[in-house]
Amino acid sequence: MIHLIYYGEPDMKRTVIVGMGFGGLRAARALAGKGMEVVVVDRRNYHLFQPLLYQVASSSLEAESIAYPARGIVRDWKRVRFRMATVTGVDFAGKRLLLADGELRYDYLILAAGGATNFFGMKSMERHAFQLKGLDHAVRLRNHIVETFERASGEDDPVKRRALLTFVIVGGGPTGVEYAGALQELIRHEFSRDYPELDMGETRILLLEAKGALLPALPATLQHYTAQRLRGMGIEVLLDTQVHGAEADKVVLAGGDNIPTHTIVWSAGVQACPLAAVLGLPRAANGRIPVGPDLTVAGDDHVFVVGDMALVEQDGRPLPMVAPVAMQQGEYAARTIVRRERGREVAPFRYRDKGSMATIGRSTAVANAFGIRLSGFPAWIAWLALHLMYLVGFRNRLVVLLNWGYYYFFRAQQVRVITADEPCVPRAAGPEGPASA
Ligand SMILES: Cc1cc2nc3c(=O)[nH]c(=O)nc-3n(C[C@H](O)[C@H](O)[C@H](O)COP(=O)(O)OP(=O)(O)OC[C@H]3O[C@@H](n4cnc5c(N)ncnc54)[C@H](O)[C@@H]3O)c2cc1C
Repeated sequence: MIHLIYYGEPDMKRTVIVGMGFGGLRAARALAGKGMEVVVVDRRNYHLFQPLLYQVASSSLEAESIAYPARGIVRDWKRVRFRMATVTGVDFAGKRLLLADGELRYDYLILAAGGATNFFGMKSMERHAFQLKGLDHAVRLRNHIVETFERASGEDDPVKRRALLTFVIVGGGPTGVEYAGALQELIRHEFSRDYPELDMGETRILLLEAKGALLPALPATLQHYTAQRLRGMGIEVLLDTQVHGAEADKVVLAGGDNIPTHTIVWSAGVQACPLAAVLGLPRAANGRIPVGPDLTVAGDDHVFVVGDMALVEQDGRPLPMVAPVAMQQGEYAARTIVRRERGREVAPFRYRDKGSMATIGRSTAVANAFGIRLSGFPAWIAWLALHLMYLVGFRNRLVVLLNWGYYYFFRAQQVRVITADEPCVPRAAGPEGPASA
């Protein structure tokens, strides 16, 4: 049965925002109290701080400390409501948002449904590799890493044990770099004490990058610094190395060589979320929806697309799929709606790039912000401060800060419990890889 859902006064103009991520959150905040009804729709009931997912996957943070309940965010914002639902499509002509369990009328629509992992059609990789896009992915990867050490500790065959203790991370962007560093620290500082029966010299972490450098958004000096620091930590950084596919117990390289492993972490590609593909709008590279200078879709200036879902070119280059782009676009779309309602002109969207950064490990990071290049400890402090600032919720900030402080002084990563329970009696044998989860 289809339900038509009404909030507030039916004659009040309504903006519906799809997605409570970085773009949607900023848009909703900017529209609060502006004489309009706002409804934010998300399939999840929380805002997720994706840049810290790798810390959940490396046992540094509890999952809940990087997520914040959506209703807790919007409840103090005037005339902003939250609706948990999966959006299945849009009736553009009838101005109706189609939900899995109903529909919502809108006057303005802001599509901010984000991105998804891009395996570039490599089905074997999709089946066998872990990805880091949602909380469940991060928790599953963390469970798998701890489980793998448990299995290795009971494995007498040295060849099988080495395969279990080999971790392959594909993609040398910020997520790959940050996860490689964090995993190495987990192994060196925690697992080396947790598993006295294992020789940690048998563990390998490989970071594979298809291009000739890590962290493509940063200057060459910082790219070299990053590769050097990771190698200094014992991580094998293989540049100009393409992967061809994966099996349950190996990753296959483009040249035909393979690396025996039970852990492949894929951080090599992003694309627009699946919703972008079902809207009937034109799509460009990575499935993103091209929008005009005011971020609206061609032929409908009441529909905005922002963040990872949108393709916006600036100075001849597509804007990257990063949080600051989504936040600035969300705010711009909201301001544009308000100005249009007041009969005012709107200047085209222009992204102000404040730079980028990545952490490599405890006390070391790289940053290129406002034209200033930083590496090592100062960059790490800048990274910590920025991430704390953008994390939503005082409690989350406090919990994360305490965790970081604890780790800094005691080198202890606390979250090493395997939360996926094994049945009391073993279930029938069968493959249970990342894809099935
Ligand atoms: C592991 C990882 C690390 C990252 N690190 C950084 C970093 O360090 N710095 C940086 O700037 N960027 C980073 N990013 C990228 C950044 O997180 C994204 O660019 C940003 O989140 C995009 O914002 P958005 O609003 O477009 O989408 P998102 O923040 O992804 O939000 C989209 C929302 O839409 C919802 N949604 C999707 N489909 C539907 C549907 N059909 N129905 C209802 N709701 C739906 C989702 O549940 C989600 O809440 C990282 C991303 C990942 C995955």
